Order: sequence, then C-alpha cells, then structure tokens
Amino acid sequence: MDVEIDGDELAVFSKVVGPIQTSIYVIGCKETNQAVIIDGGGDIDDLLTTIDEQGWELNEIWQTHAHIDHVAGLTELKEARDVPILLHKAEQPVYDAAVQQGMMFGFQIEPLPAVDKYVEEGQFVNVGNLKARVMWLPGHSPGSVAFYFEDRDLFFGGDVVFKGSIGRVDLPGCDPQAMVKSLRRVNELPEETIIFPGHGPHTTVGQEQQSNPYF
Ligand SMILES: [Zn+2]
Repeated sequence: MDVEIDGDELAVFSKVVGPIQTSIYVIGCKETNQAVIIDGGGDIDDLLTTIDEQGWELNEIWQTHAHIDHVAGLTELKEARDVPILLHKAEQPVYDAAVQQGMMFGFQIEPLPAVDKYVEEGQFVNVGNLKARVMWLPGHSPGSVAFYFEDRDLFFGGDVVFKGSIGRVDLPGCDPQAMVKSLRRVNELPEETIIFPGHGPHTTVGQEQQSNPYF
C-alpha cells in the first residue's frame, strides 16, 4: 500500500483496487495500534499484510457507500477478519443489490456479509484515540457518508468529491439536488482539510474551492 500520512499519532495508507481504480484506505492509531479500513473494495491480502506489518489490530470496516467497486472485497475480508462492517442505513438497498450491480458492471461477486452497524449523521466513530464525525452526504448514492477527522483536518469522502470533479449523479439511486446540498457542506469545511476521495489523488477543500467547477 502507499503511505499517505505517517505521523507520530496516526498513519494513513492507500491502495488503488479493481477495474474502476477505486481508492481504499487503512487508518491506524499509533498510540493504541488500532486500525480501520475505509471501503472493502478489494486486494484484501495487501490490506491485511499492511495492517499486520504495522502491528495493528483491525477493529472495523467503514463503508463510505455500497457501490460495487467499494464493497467487492468485503466477503473475503469478513472471512479473514470477523470485524464489524459499518454503513449508513439509507445505503442498505444499494448494498443488498450488490450482486445485480456487479452483473451490470461486469463484476462477479458473491452475496455480501450482513452489515453489522448503521452509522448516522453527527455520530462519532473511533479508531483508537482518533475520532471521526460521520457526515451524511447523499447525492451520489442515498447513504453516502464521509468520515471527518475534524481535529486533524482529514476527510474521507468516498465518491462525493474528487480532485477537480464530483461523483456521478446519473446512476440509479442518485439524487442531483441532494448532491448540491452535500457539496455545499464540504465547501464549508476549513480550507486546509485534506480530502481523500474514492477515486484519484487526494486534494484539499481550498484547492477545490479554487479549481473545481462544481464548488
Ligand atoms: Zn460510487
């Protein structure tokens, strides 16, 4: 995996997986050696090797949303490490349709393991001593969420916003009007906030304010 951040208290690794070049992440708390995966999209062996090499313990899998390219590795992941999968409740129908979605996009996947916990707007989720606020940002999909580490200016937003672009709003379950509101909320975050998207390189809120036509 690629190192995105290697600080005293936390580290972030990324990996691009699958035919749609999906970025998935491992975040570890160095004080407690606890870790989470953001989006179980694939290349599970590589993720788990990274976690093991760091001496971390995987606690949870946080899903930004349930499009096929973000969930395709979950069955294998859950078999390897039986840790809770977190998702927004509004995303459950998308999650349940993963096998059909797969057929549409030419992926063959097995039925997914059950979601263990629902997350909702304003809730905090933890990895060791690190705390992220859940932001419900529908538009690209009904239950899209971001995991926002407010005190560290880190924003893991799935397919809501990309460097210079935004997530598609023309797929089943998309809501362009909701997307406008969601983007407005991202635009209101401090400009130094680093955005780790579901596709492509990371960026910042400030950079997107200057160069993203959707902002
Ligand atoms: Zn998506």
